[in-house]
Amino acid sequence: YYQPVLTLDTQAVVGFEALVRWKHPSLGLLPPDQFVAVAEETGLIVPLGEWVLKQALDQVAGWRSRLPGAADLWVSVNLSARQLRARNVVDMVADALLTSGMPPNALQLEITESVLMDEVGPTIDAMKAIRALGVQLAIDDFGTGYSSLSYLKSLPVSSIKIDRSFVGCLGSDDASAIPLVDAIVSMARALDLEVVAEGVETAVQRETLLELGAGLAQGYLWSRPLEPGLIPAWIAARARVASIT
Ligand code: C2E
Ligand code: CA
Ligand code: CA
Repeated sequence: YYQPVLTLDTQAVVGFEALVRWKHPSLGLLPPDQFVAVAEETGLIVPLGEWVLKQALDQVAGWRSRLPGAADLWVSVNLSARQLRARNVVDMVADALLTSGMPPNALQLEITESVLMDEVGPTIDAMKAIRALGVQLAIDDFGTGYSSLSYLKSLPVSSIKIDRSFVGCLGSDDASAIPLVDAIVSMARALDLEVVAEGVETAVQRETLLELGAGLAQGYLWSRPLEPGLIPAWIAARARVASIT
């Protein structure tokens, strides 16, 4: 499934996050929290993650070449701890890019902040090698781990994704919500990192994030993750909205 990522100011779609689903024969559509943790424990996440990456690259390469206005869309794919520690991860990514014909800078890989805290040495080396391919790296679920500022500064990442727990508090009566997101955005700006806000559900959240200076966002306000067959129509409808507003 694919969830659009948009600019907060013009609300134009710039890319998609790939989010895996399991169409189970008897249980129906299973969300990732029902199988990704087990796949991680058993190691199955390595082939599964490779499959997701290849599917996503091929899918978005197809949209870029076929759909009007879609030529610059990028795709963001979640990379698990186990994948990042696999010896051939850099070759795997390079190979998937080559096969799909996608330019490396149209791919972003998301690594959760907690993974970065757990295992330092080889993880950072793999991240640097992936970055050297020209692929973008994002810190996912930002704000849920305990990265120090000096550590963050040393990471070869290009963006952070503000965890949806922070975004969800915007517009509530939680007095710390705005100052916290403000602090995260300021920090990102100081480190020259792009900010993606996750889980934007209301117009108030969008306006607040825009005022605080976040650049990009995704959330139910615009779209839930959609099966790939629905995306071309979604892109066309979005372009019509953009031409009116
Ligand atoms: P994540 O990477 O933080 O993905 C964002 C999650 O937030 C997605 O849940 C998405 O459907 C949900 N979301 C997006 N907008 C909103 C919103 O406005 N409101 C609310 N309440 N939720 C929103 P999903 O698809 O269930 O994925 C859950 C987690 O599973 C992901 O969290 C990610 O950590 C993991 N995951 C998904 N696909 C993959 C994959 O291919 N590989 C790996 N390793 N992990 C994956
Ligand atoms: Ca993610
Ligand atoms: Ca996230």
